Order: sequence, then structure tokens, then C-alpha cells
Amino acid sequence: MEFIQANANWLYLVGAILFILTLRGLSGPKTAIQGNRYGMVAMAIAVVTTFFVANHPVFWMIGGAMVLGAIVGIARARTVPMTQMPETVALMHSLVGLAAVLIAIAAILHNNQLTALFTQNEAALTAAGIQHTHMSKVHLFELFVGCFVGAITFTASVFAYGKLAAKKWAKTISGAWVKPVQALVFIAMLACGVYFFTTGNMQAFWAMTALALVLGWVWIAPVGGGDMPVVVSLLNSFSGWAAAGIGFTLENNMLIVAGSLVGSSGAILSYIMCKAMNRSIINVLFGGAMGGTAAPTAASGDKVQRNHRSGSADDAGFLMSNADSVVIVPGYGMAQGRAQNAVKELAHILKEQGVTVRFAIHPVAGRMPGHMNVLLAEADVAYEDILEMDEINSDFPATDVVLVIGANDVVNPAAKDDPTSPIYGMPILEAHRARTIMVIKRSMATGYAGLDNDLFYNDKTMMIFGDAKKVVEDMTKAINGSSH
Ligand code: NDP
Repeated sequence: MEFIQANANWLYLVGAILFILTLRGLSGPKTAIQGNRYGMVAMAIAVVTTFFVANHPVFWMIGGAMVLGAIVGIARARTVPMTQMPETVALMHSLVGLAAVLIAIAAILHNNQLTALFTQNEAALTAAGIQHTHMSKVHLFELFVGCFVGAITFTASVFAYGKLAAKKWAKTISGAWVKPVQALVFIAMLACGVYFFTTGNMQAFWAMTALALVLGWVWIAPVGGGDMPVVVSLLNSFSGWAAAGIGFTLENNMLIVAGSLVGSSGAILSYIMCKAMNRSIINVLFGGAMGGTAAPTAASGDKVQRNHRSGSADDAGFLMSNADSVVIVPGYGMAQGRAQNAVKELAHILKEQGVTVRFAIHPVAGRMPGHMNVLLAEADVAYEDILEMDEINSDFPATDVVLVIGANDVVNPAAKDDPTSPIYGMPILEAHRARTIMVIKRSMATGYAGLDNDLFYNDKTMMIFGDAKKVVEDMTKAINGSSH
């Protein structure tokens, strides 16, 4: 215990280096497991060290909270289906935000309590040579920033959770009133914050916190489907900055470093995703507030009855086994149907027949950054068979069959051809340029962005209706059957 207390900053330094190695490890699928291990060790060092250096710790409270948190965390980690990972991540961001708000509140109330105690006993304390140091302006500013960033992160992440989990209460809002309301809430929040900062007035602090909570909600609620991936990674970044803010409040170097790492890596990821989506970060951040056009979620306009061609898994299996090259485009439906192992099996059987099989990954396929990569890695698909959008797009015209498995928005040609489309400008996997297109999905329903997809009505397209896993297994059976 004494060793830990005497060497806390050295231990934090080791933890910080391990966190940096974690990020480095997580940058590639082959090193990701090692990266996670570094992260676990770093977190253990951080928690144990902080436990022993805490100022007058109430051990049963901290220990109890840690045990409770560990039980909930382990239970959730063991039971959460892969399909619910995106909303679980959003929910975890919300907890970081909430923690920042609660710590800011606790720090301010604690300071107020000390001030009151000192004022009551000023004569005696001064005589005993005890001085009360008021919270410095810098400290107040840290609290102010940590609290409002935390509050925005909290409600925005809860909304993101609702939206990703398709909850009824997480409705996208739109209308001419949205931008003025956002601006009004933002200005009022800043005004209260500045008043609190300059006078220390507690009413202003409560008002600022409440307005920041409202702002988180009204900021994210109008965000359209196309911008949601960037928003999720921005919230990741915000949760890091909120944690760094708490680190300053608690004077904990480890938390400042870890929070800054999360904040800056989340910001870099947001930038990369913006580039991949052809959106500007300003437009995503203020799309609903500064006159930019946030990508809407649902298509407008009348529904027109259009014809599509459908076929069976057997037909599709036969066509693919006679092709030279097949490109598989997985999307959210593969995750939803937990079809990744069946897909790996299909790819394997096709390869055995001499077909070249590759996977094409869109940066925002699924519901979280890297979603498809994670699933394919879990199914042990070889990394060299997995190609990013830029690497594969020029190969589609020479591809015999493209098999779209539960993907929709990421292969919607409207993003390239239709300037009126809300997703116009978003780069897509150009599956429509392949010789034959097969699409597995359960119906003609729209995807996340709520848009109809011309690809499904293309003359070269065959729809194969059904659950992704079942259809893919049937395809494999058909190919197996025909080869024996
Ligand atoms: P989409 O949401 O566009 O489409 C998925 C399709 O899968 C649906 O049309 C659905 O059709 C089908 N589907 C669902 N379940 C199954 C199943 N069990 N079996 C077969 N098919 C199924 O997914 P994409 O991957 O193409 O695009 C991702 C979208 O999500 C983008 O709009 C992106 O902006 C957004 N997004 C991405 C995030 C990220 O970080 N990656 C985060 C937040 C949003 P049907 O119901 O007919 O089966």
C-alpha cells in the first residue's frame, strides 16, 4: 500500500503507456487482442492505484460500487448479443457523461459545504491558522466544461442508444423550429455557464446543467441516418473529453491522460469517417443548427409499385458455383441474422470449387465503426480476403456475382446518381456495376436511412428473400449437393 502511494505517478505513467499501446494494438485486427490485454492491465493499474491514493476514501462505498459495477459489467459482457453491441457502446458513453456531471456536482457541493463550515467557524479556524482556499477560476472553468460536455454526452448517448435499438421514444425530430430551439438552448446554456463562472451562483449552475442535458437531446434528435455513424464516434470522443475534465477536477493524472486519449482518438475516427462519408465535420455537428443539410432519416415522396426479380437459394448457389469471381457485401442484416459463420462456410465451399471469393466492406456498414470487420474476424475469415471500399470498387465491373447479404444503404446507387437523394454524395460499394447481383434480405423494406434502393429493381438483380443465416446455409447445401 505504501509502495503504491509513494509511486502513484510512476504507476500512472506505466498505465498511460499501456493505454497508448492499447490504441496501437486496436488499429489492426491481428494485434487487437494484444491491444485489449494491454488495456485491461492499464485499467487494473489505474483503478488499484487510484483506490489507494484517494483522499479519505470510504472503502466500503468505493469497494461496493466497484463490485456492483463489475457484476453488471461481466453479466452484460457475457449476455450481450453481438447485434446489440452498437447500442451497448452508446449506453456506455452515456455513463461516462453522467459520471462527469455527478462528479462536477459533488465537487461544487463539497466546496460550498466547506465554505459554509468555514464561515460559521471563521474566528476559531483563523485563530488556529486554518485558511479556506476558495475554488480557483481555473478549477471552476474545468468544472463548467466537464459538466456541460458530460451532460450533453449523457442525453445525446441515451438518444443514440434509443435510435440504434429502434426504440419508439427515440424519434427523429424535424421542422423549421429545430434550429432556432437548438441555438436558443445553446446560447442560454453558455450564458448560465458564464454567469456561474463569474459569480459562482448555484442557480446558474443548475440551469446550465439542465440546459446542457436538453441540448444533448435536441442536438442529436434531428441527425439523419447517414450522419449517425459519425455522431456515435463523436460521442465516443466527447465521453473522453468529459473524463479528462473530471480528471482535472479530481486532480487525477491518469484520468486526464486516459480521457484525452479517448477524446483525441474518437475525434480522429470521426474525421476519418466524415471523409469516408464525404461529409464535413461542421455539417454533421451543426447540420441541424447552422443551415447545413443534415442527412434525413426517412425518404419522402410517394411510394411507386415497382417490379423486382426473385429467386431461390438453390438458383443462387448454382450461379455462384459456376462463376469465376464472387464478391460478398455484408451489411447490418448479416449482423442481425448472426450469419457470419454461415457466410464463412459459403465462401469456403465456393473457394473449393475454384471460385475467387472476396469480401467488400463499407466504412459505415452495420451499426458501429468496424462492425463487419469484427464479425468476419470472429468467423475467422482471412484478412487478405477482406477489402475496403476503395480497394474493391474498381473491380466490380469484372466481377461475375456480387452477393449482398443484408446490406442496403451502403449499396444504394442513389448516393451516386440522384442529387435529390438525402444520401447523395456518400461513397458506396458499387455493386450495381457487377455482372450479376444477388441480394439476401427478408423483404423489400428500406434500411437505416429509410430509402428505397434502385439496386433491388435492377435487371441484373435477383432478390433472395429470407433470413440471412438460413438463406446462406441453403446456398451452401445447394452447392454441396450439386458437387456430389
Ligand atoms: P441497412 O440498415 O441500410 O440495411 C440493412 C438491411 O438488412 C435491411 O434493409 C434489412 O432488410 C436487412 N436485414 C435485417 N435483418 C436481416 C436478416 N436477419 N436477414 C436478412 N436481411 C436482414 O444496412 P447497411 O449495412 O447497408 O448500412 C448501414 C446503415 O446504418 C447506414 O445508413 C449507416 O449510416 C447507418 N449507421 C451506421 C453506423 C456505423 O457506425 N456503421 C452507426 C449508425 C448508423 P429486411 O428488413 O427486408 O430484411
